[in-house]
Amino acid sequence: MPSPMEIYKLLPKTNCGECGEKTCMSFAFKIISREKKLEECKPLFSPKFEKNRKKLEEMLEIVKKAEETGLVVNEELCIGCANCVVSCPVHVEKDPYNAAMGRGIKMENPILRIENGVVKVVELNLCRRYGKNRTLCIVCRENCPTDAISFVEEM
Ligand code: SF4
Ligand code: SF4
Ligand code: SF4
Repeated sequence: MPSPMEIYKLLPKTNCGECGEKTCMSFAFKIISREKKLEECKPLFSPKFEKNRKKLEEMLEIVKKAEETGLVVNEELCIGCANCVVSCPVHVEKDPYNAAMGRGIKMENPILRIENGVVKVVELNLCRRYGKNRTLCIVCRENCPTDAISFVEEM
């Protein structure tokens, strides 16, 4: 997840106010909280800032992916320990007596899965944070030893 400072560094930094914010830094914070979109910074779309704009678009791809749940995985920080996979309450299996057991998931499409040593988001729509009945769930993040999971917005 990019920080506001990383975003700020790529903005025009003129504090021109065209985006409706008094400063580019405040715009950067609102990009992270998704209250503003890059398109609202008109100067960024001039040829002079094309390189920066492309970098920002790349950087913010991860935020777009999180639109439904707020869940973002920073694959560079992930060490593939699978704590998030086994701790996710949606992945817990029930034994014949309806007690939670094992947490060894056999789901075909789990929310999170380890592929090539890194966690991948497979079925985001199964996450408890998804959809109109979503609930605040932070279990995967709380069990991640490297802070590779973050949430764009807390509900
Ligand atoms: S429009 Fe762009 S350059 Fe102007 S204040 Fe907003 S973020 Fe900064
Ligand atoms: S937020 Fe909750 S439901 Fe969603 S992946 Fe993480 S632990 Fe599972
Ligand atoms: S708990 Fe964190 S480090 Fe471990 S697999 Fe999940 S995201 Fe990666």
